[in-house]
Amino acid sequence: MDNVDIAAHFKLLAELMELHGENPFKIKSYSNAGRSLKKIDLPLAQMSEQALQEIPGIGKAISEKIIELSTSGQLSLLNQYIEKTPSGVLDMLKIPGIGPSKIAQLWHELNVESLGELYYACLENRLILLKGFGEKTQEKIKGNIEFLLQNSNQYLYARIEKQWEENIYPLFRKLLGNEIEINVTGDYRRQEITLQQLQILVSDISLEDLADKLQSEYWNISIQDKHLLLKSEQWIDILVEPVSSSEIAYHLFETTGSEEHRQLVKNQLKKPISKNNTEVEIYQSAGLSYFPPECRHQYTHFFPHPEEQFKNLIAENDILGVVHNHTQYSDGRNTIEELATHCQQLGYQYLVVSDHSQSAFYANGLSVPRVLQQQDEINEVQQKMNNFKIFKSIECDILYDGQLDYENDILKTFDLVIASVHSQLNMTEDKAMERLIKAIENPYTNILGHLTGRLLLSRKGYPIHHKKIIDACAANGVVIEINANPHRLDIDWYWLPYCMEKGVWISINPDAHHLNGVNDIRYGVIAARKGGLQKDRCINTLDARKFIDTIQQLKK
Ligand SMILES: [Zn+2]
Ligand SMILES: [Zn+2]
Repeated sequence: MDNVDIAAHFKLLAELMELHGENPFKIKSYSNAGRSLKKIDLPLAQMSEQALQEIPGIGKAISEKIIELSTSGQLSLLNQYIEKTPSGVLDMLKIPGIGPSKIAQLWHELNVESLGELYYACLENRLILLKGFGEKTQEKIKGNIEFLLQNSNQYLYARIEKQWEENIYPLFRKLLGNEIEINVTGDYRRQEITLQQLQILVSDISLEDLADKLQSEYWNISIQDKHLLLKSEQWIDILVEPVSSSEIAYHLFETTGSEEHRQLVKNQLKKPISKNNTEVEIYQSAGLSYFPPECRHQYTHFFPHPEEQFKNLIAENDILGVVHNHTQYSDGRNTIEELATHCQQLGYQYLVVSDHSQSAFYANGLSVPRVLQQQDEINEVQQKMNNFKIFKSIECDILYDGQLDYENDILKTFDLVIASVHSQLNMTEDKAMERLIKAIENPYTNILGHLTGRLLLSRKGYPIHHKKIIDACAANGVVIEINANPHRLDIDWYWLPYCMEKGVWISINPDAHHLNGVNDIRYGVIAARKGGLQKDRCINTLDARKFIDTIQQLKK
């Protein structure tokens, strides 16, 4: 073990001790050791204990640890601290520009235990509620996490959509000129909720010419079989394939659908397909109606007769109401009026304001007096609005024992209650089920928010028995949310066919914390379409009157 390595162990030890709030003098001596040891010219591993102690700042305790490290490669004290620190919190120490005591604050005060959770907390504007954090720090942390996560090779769809539209497509257009067709295909065209690479088809050009034209400072190009692979620091990996323009549709068909999907189509072919067919013709040859790309995934629920399902498949402009939104009362950025006006301008007919409830102290949850104050303010804003309805709601914490977070006399003041789990997410399936079922059976629960608590690519979500939950929602008149935030998309769309089979209503909710958050409805709709959600099973396609009547009817 060389000096730099040894020094790094002391640095980490000091960081972890600070994280765990240990004695500042000890921390200081280890962090000083970390700094000074890497500057020593002689190899520490070969020095005697006595020689080590002659180095300024190195006493008995540290010299023993250097010997332990150089003989065993381990530092038992460090191992003890590593053991009692969640691995996600260790990852958080890698964020540049934020020290262990701030990490400790985030960990203990916000309950954040991974990079992904911390990132999400930044998006939800939670950090600025903490002492010593401001908007600037929050932005900086968010940017640094993005940088760290970039290296993990999996990306959220929403993020790649931005890269494609703002950077990659314009660059392709510029490098290839206007003659060449550029078609995005693969997982991206299929709108998978997470992606590993971007696949692009371009028309009528040789692989060598394509490689020439695509030369750019932004990526390294390598030729692979029939493709070019473009790798860059800042963007997702891109695979580009040139094909003949007359065969583009055929290649789009072959590269968009999952293998299972293509096989199902091919099994039904009544006549062979030609490489000059359009996609519509290919589906016609199989006696099928055209499949929207996002529905060409590996599951079979659209087969054998997709026409019926496609006819009433949910679309973004079917959504009339914006359900589940946070304002300045809890952790949102905008006022009730700003949010309502914004939603009306976007063409929506109603807004459901659902801030966090009182136990969500990390998100500035509403005490009872503040609930009442907010309801007064909603009444005032409502007075100023024409043809736009604001509903009073709350995103009510489901407490550890399954109870809701207010007494019934407060719960009944809301037009509707969204119940969600936000704390103590580490649960066995039995515990999670007991907690959720109790909340579902509560007569005041109208909508079940982000069912599993998952954060895509960063937190798995607690284990549940989906069918039993859906059955319970059917029995208790509870609507299930598709949380449309692209980090959540929870309930997973895979379960929508079962929800529909059981007659459960779905609500596609942006969980907006600022005005732009309302646009996330789009991602919820994409997910819903994958699950084949029918318009008439999506409760916020109803107008304001029918929406609230239906919510109330369901509880009778
Ligand atoms: Zn929530
Ligand atoms: Zn929320």
